Amino acid sequence: MNALERWRCRPMQVRILERCNECGELKDDVQKRVNRWPNVAALSCAKCFAEMTANAGDMKPTAFVRSREIS
Ligand SMILES: [Zn+2]
Repeated sequence: MNALERWRCRPMQVRILERCNECGELKDDVQKRVNRWPNVAALSCAKCFAEMTANAGDMKPTAFVRSREIS
């Protein structure tokens, strides 16, 4: 089988990886996520978004921003 035939027969399953804005990693569950309360919107993976919404619920917005700058 030559290279062109191998290319045509390649597996069609494609993993789409996007970069999470929070952790900066390429993951396949990164998407635009919106949370109503606490109000959080971000392009991030599920893990980061869960942390963001948890943090936003615990803290005032200013404290939330400061803690992110420190970490
Ligand atoms: Zn992430």
